[in-house]
Amino acid sequence: AREARALAPIGPGRLKDGIPVPLLANLGSADGAAKAVALGAEGVGLFRTEFLFLDSTSAPTVTQQREQYERMLREFPGQKVVVRALDAGADKPLAFLNDAAEENPALGLRGLRALRASEDILREQLTALAEADAATDADLWVMAPMVSTVEEAAYFTALAHELGLKTAGVMVEVPSAALLADRILAQTDFASIGTNDLTQYTLAADRMLGSVAAFQDPWHPAVLRLVGEVGAAGASLGKPVGVCGEAAADPLLAVVLVGLGATTLSMSASALADVRASLADFTLEQARHLAAAALTADGAASARAAATAIAHSYT
Ligand code: PEP
Ligand code: MG
Repeated sequence: AREARALAPIGPGRLKDGIPVPLLANLGSADGAAKAVALGAEGVGLFRTEFLFLDSTSAPTVTQQREQYERMLREFPGQKVVVRALDAGADKPLAFLNDAAEENPALGLRGLRALRASEDILREQLTALAEADAATDADLWVMAPMVSTVEEAAYFTALAHELGLKTAGVMVEVPSAALLADRILAQTDFASIGTNDLTQYTLAADRMLGSVAAFQDPWHPAVLRLVGEVGAAGASLGKPVGVCGEAAADPLLAVVLVGLGATTLSMSASALADVRASLADFTLEQARHLAAAALTADGAASARAAATAIAHSYT
């Protein structure tokens, strides 16, 4: 029986009451695609394109990029693949996009800000993605990193549509974007919450700095309240809200995120099985109760404890 279980096809992500919560993979190259598919990924929720070019000293050409994107899209026929435009800066500097002399790169010209300052590079990347999209049959979505204003969301969405990409969205990983999620979602097709940076910027704690690692906890109710703002905006506008930060890989926090309005979750492929099993234990109403308890806690530890206590009462 054990072997039969191991060989059984892996079903899609679902809550106990059958509501689908597609479970997607975070990838940095096509190399991880086969493993993600084997582990039941229903597509890709975050393709980190900057990882392809970390060692490049000059911007990659459209042709070079197109080859990489096609290689990855071919692994996911008919499935959703969310590709992020280059997120250069701070923890992921690219020589051809960033100024190494910035004193505070996490607060500097990074992500979409850096792409806008070198708009040719952004146009070339979106062009390469549109060409790869036309040559393959995955359902390609594109999104911008480090969006902090409504105007940036409108800018990126218009440019991506102009260059032939059907579905364009933004990452919500800066508190200003979460607080204005209703205005931002009115200008774009979807949002994807990056809880790694959202936690860093909400708690003002450098995600690269071990001495403040205790602050980098996405269970913090300040972070959860911001996630709830985005979830509520998505629900009222009928637009998808994914989560693609590490928080989605924590099986109990994944349930809380769904209770806060996340409609898809994306994570390292190795986390998919545990998150899938955890979601199957709770109805949407129960997930909302867990979320409500976590939201009213004073800190990360008490939010986790409150959600854990309620979860035990249900299982
Ligand atoms: C995030 O910030 O949560 C995220 C998913 O992006 P990255 O970790 O690549 O910054
Ligand atoms: Mg980020």
